[in-house]
Amino acid sequence: MNYLERFKVAAGSKVKLKDHDPAFKDGHESYESAAEEIAHYAERLRELQELLYAERRHSLLICLQALDTGGKDGAINHVLGAMNPQGCRVAAFKQPSAEELAHDFLWRAHKVAPARGEVAIFNRSHYEDVLVVRVHNLVPKEVWTRRYEGINAFEEGLAEHDTQILKFYLHISKEEQLRRFKARLDDPAKHWKISEADYKERGYWDDYVAAYEEALSRCSTGRAPWFIIPADHKWFRNLAIARIVVEHMESLKMAYPKPTADLDHIRKEYHAAKGV
Ligand code: AMP
Ligand code: MG
Repeated sequence: MNYLERFKVAAGSKVKLKDHDPAFKDGHESYESAAEEIAHYAERLRELQELLYAERRHSLLICLQALDTGGKDGAINHVLGAMNPQGCRVAAFKQPSAEELAHDFLWRAHKVAPARGEVAIFNRSHYEDVLVVRVHNLVPKEVWTRRYEGINAFEEGLAEHDTQILKFYLHISKEEQLRRFKARLDDPAKHWKISEADYKERGYWDDYVAAYEEALSRCSTGRAPWFIIPADHKWFRNLAIARIVVEHMESLKMAYPKPTADLDHIRKEYHAAKGV
């Protein structure tokens, strides 16, 4: 089965995260046994992004969501590393500024949505407004419960404008998170990433799981699907995301635009006589 179908949350289905194995690696023993496949999909990503840029018909929006240490940064590095930075952009969704809070919650997402030919990667996204906001009661329940429909309508509007939307939930286990926190403690180059708040957030694990389950269940739609990516193995996470993006982009049947210049004329006029 292709990865696009395998990891997709079927529209209308009810997600239970405990039914998804965060350590799944599809028969690979290790990074080494998958390295060739990973390199293949990275190369295809590069080619397809160039095509997207040249054709300027579609845009691509990749949303990444995860609990702390889930690997959003690593995934961005991998996917973007395979693309031409010209035509790609990362937008990080932090705690909203005063100006952002004074607008509706989708305003800041809409502003950074990709234009035709562009790729935008959301490091966190408008989904924070039904995740952290819900877990910490930052707005009343009546407000956040209405947001799922608002999100679906917003994404439908983007899709109507040929924005291809792929949303990835990077699924790690609670034990793996603790291992990654510990690894940060042991690595001076990672100390800057450590905050006690992250350990406190860990205390809300079950609330986040419930919030994610509802978001993934209610907002995985035909044109803006969610994917649940096994993320305990970083290399498998990278492989799965790259492969899903590639499979989706291949399905678009993109083509380079026809040349606008008269190439025969140019060949004759400027090259034939000079023999170059
Ligand atoms: P980081 O991605 O680690 O730099 O942290 C960004 C922080 O901003 C995370 O703790 C998010 O949960 C938080 N954040 C993002 N969007 C929102 C939002 N709409 N409301 C409140 N907090 C948010
Ligand atoms: Mg953080």
